[in-house]
Amino acid sequence: MSLESVLERWRTKPVSRILSHGMCCHMAREWLVSMDKSMLRDNNPLSGPKWLREKYEWGPVKWPLYWCEAVRSDYLDCGALAAISRELFLARGIACLPVQLIQRYPSHVVQHWVSMWSRAGMPATWVEGTLVYHEACAVVRQGNVVEVWDPVEACWLDPSTKGYGAILALKVSSSELHHIVWRGRYFPTNTWIIL
Ligand SMILES: [Zn+2]
Repeated sequence: MSLESVLERWRTKPVSRILSHGMCCHMAREWLVSMDKSMLRDNNPLSGPKWLREKYEWGPVKWPLYWCEAVRSDYLDCGALAAISRELFLARGIACLPVQLIQRYPSHVVQHWVSMWSRAGMPATWVEGTLVYHEACAVVRQGNVVEVWDPVEACWLDPSTKGYGAILALKVSSSELHHIVWRGRYFPTNTWIIL
């Protein structure tokens, strides 16, 4: 399947958002934020919340997802991990924007992921051949300069990565910024950009 047809499919896909029941979900979010504060201690508030991936395995989770369910889950997918990470950065006072990505992975790796999802009784709708839909967080450093945190790999991404996990397209959503600068490259926001 071509990148264009995959993008066509994702064109109107909204960023994953965790829903709230009310008080139970408010408490769950507060727990995550205070956990993050204690993990962060004197570290730079711009550092990635690596502890999330020590607490939660990456894997299938049922949507719609509520905060109180997410916090109790053993597994979280990229959409859930990105949504929680955004919440943690915002609670630290750091602006953080949702990023949607299309990445390419070797087919044996993708097949393994598809079988993980199918064992959980969920179709891996985020996979098309070797093209994989992913969500991440653009953490604003200054003005419109961002670094992109991958909440699954728990590392900072690079738009020039070739080969394994190469980023083919991305969409950064922002109500304020018309474009962002990521590692010296300009990207208009609120639209899919092919790299
Ligand atoms: Zn709840």
